[in-house]
Amino acid sequence: KAGLLEPQSRVQVDLSAFGQNVRTLKSLTPTGTRFCAVVKANAYGHGGIQCAKTALENGSHFLAVVRISEAVAMRDAGITAPILLLGDALPEQVSFLATHGIRASVADIQTARALSAAAQALNTTLKIHIKLDTGMGRLGFLHPDVVIKESGQAAGIGQAREIAGLKGMEVEGTYTHFAKADMIDKTHVKGQLARFNDMVAMLADMGIHPEIRHAANSAALLELPEAHFDMVRPGIAMYGMAPSGEVDITGHKLVPIMSITAKVIYVKAVPKDFSISYGSTHVTAAPTVIATVPIGYADGYSRLLSNQGQMLIKGQKAPIVGRVTMDFTMIDVGHIPGIKPGDDVTILGTQANERITADDIAGLTGTINYEVTAGLTGRMPVSYV
Ligand code: PLP
Repeated sequence: KAGLLEPQSRVQVDLSAFGQNVRTLKSLTPTGTRFCAVVKANAYGHGGIQCAKTALENGSHFLAVVRISEAVAMRDAGITAPILLLGDALPEQVSFLATHGIRASVADIQTARALSAAAQALNTTLKIHIKLDTGMGRLGFLHPDVVIKESGQAAGIGQAREIAGLKGMEVEGTYTHFAKADMIDKTHVKGQLARFNDMVAMLADMGIHPEIRHAANSAALLELPEAHFDMVRPGIAMYGMAPSGEVDITGHKLVPIMSITAKVIYVKAVPKDFSISYGSTHVTAAPTVIATVPIGYADGYSRLLSNQGQMLIKGQKAPIVGRVTMDFTMIDVGHIPGIKPGDDVTILGTQANERITADDIAGLTGTINYEVTAGLTGRMPVSYV
């Protein structure tokens, strides 16, 4: 039966490289700065539980996820470290959050009141982190400068004053998230930083003194020491990828930890003028050899790679010909002698002296490296080394 279940394409994640990346990033922060490993979205597609455990073994103090289901899975896997929920928490989840050391983010007073009421009803105390929107425009209390007074929706930081008096909750932290820390022009992020400092002072005036102030994503960890505060909160750099083309990580020895490989399942020689895949968008210009590789968009391998991407085989690049289909992709291997079924194909990663990175794939598909790994659908089995 094992043979029957043998996967035809697979993801490999190098946890020792991941651990090394965590240690490298930690070494860039002053001693005493806490480290919160952002392992949301299944650790950007790399395996949430395995990456969480490895981050903790390598000195991470906190974990951050977005969905409560991810936090529950980590607790079920025996992980006991503090987990910060970057998404929203519901009153009916309070008992679970409190007993399992899961910190809720609070970004509006209505949620704060509801969580407080639920916590009191259960005679428990929920640890919360107050989320401040300093210029991301997503979640968080707003700086007074940008609150539209007449709007009933205004979630100005003034509303946070009430949190100081709410029972059943302890403000452990406050944080913000940067929109443009990964750009060379640091004007926006510095504005966010100034607003964050301002708002932390406003909280103090309200009698709210969070022990853990945090802001830095990977880009700010790497390039903005003044944003490190009490805890850093990196994601992408732990996975060995750059936050954007404007952040140079080469000097930091961060190593990509994911590779995707497959075995050729079918090979055939075809004549000139032979069309390949749906829509016949590729027609051979000369007789050649076409290999079929068992990966497709149902695995998260973008259909936008049709006629664009490349794969590595026998240490050489082979172009994708025709459309990527749901389960299979064809490559032209006419220039590489002796290709046969069973040959190893590297879809992401290194083979001999050639390499295909998530940035290469992202560049061809109009997206970012984050989406290349986080967008894997989970059909391919993941093995860990
Ligand atoms: N903090 C929050 C609130 C996030 O949403 C994210 C990811 O998008 C991160 C930190 C980590 O960001 P990065 O992966 O760019 O380091």
